[in-house]
Amino acid sequence: MSTKKVFLSTLLLTACAISSCVCRNDSVNTQIIAHRGFWDKLGSAQNSISSLHNAIDFGAYGSELDVHLTQDGYVVLNHDDDYQGVNIQGAAYADLSALRLANGEPLPTLQQCIEVAKTQNTTKLIVEIKPHHSLEADVRAANVVVKVINESGIADLTDYISFSADICKELIKLNPQHRVAYLNGDKSPQELKAEGYWGLDYSEGTLHDHPTWINEAKELGLTTNVWTVNSLDEMQYFLQQGVDYITTNHPELLKGLLN
Ligand code: MG
Repeated sequence: MSTKKVFLSTLLLTACAISSCVCRNDSVNTQIIAHRGFWDKLGSAQNSISSLHNAIDFGAYGSELDVHLTQDGYVVLNHDDDYQGVNIQGAAYADLSALRLANGEPLPTLQQCIEVAKTQNTTKLIVEIKPHHSLEADVRAANVVVKVINESGIADLTDYISFSADICKELIKLNPQHRVAYLNGDKSPQELKAEGYWGLDYSEGTLHDHPTWINEAKELGLTTNVWTVNSLDEMQYFLQQGVDYITTNHPELLKGLLN
């Protein structure tokens, strides 16, 4: 083959590669979920009212928050089971109300978040119900959270996620229309579809280990979400994969790639 033909072939292949890459990105409408709210700002804290306000002001698709049920039936935000040495699920709300987050806020309740969320209709609450200590406690937590959400009239503004298959099962049983995504990474897209899930919400590592799952989920009509994506490289990778949602600690960094 002549040098000119080789040059033209290379040019053509490069153009095709660029074209297919752009096409894949252009077809994506990936949305941003702020992980534990948009807390990476001065004066904010994870799982705080401030971080929810920031996510709303930013225009995120969703503000993710972690919730536990206290022994006396309050739904309280916190990532870990314990806060400052107090086990949340084993405590009464009165035992928690004096505790303060890093920015000085009291530990928020789901009801307080709802009051903020109700002031707008753009940013959803992505409610992660943490596993509780027994099947009975998981079922109770799912029922109480759904009751609080429904009685507040923000069901349309709420997506549910959990690592607990029992909690997810109860959420789907309570209403098959609930938007429930599974976090734990040990169910295939086919299993999730068969069990009535809305989508998968898996870690970067799980989706790298199972590179066909994003497309399989899409073909089954499931939504796809990946957590917690904080590096540019990983953001670009999952944008090219065409996931529906990326959960991140750095919403502004991700937004810069979407513009
Ligand atoms: Mg969470």
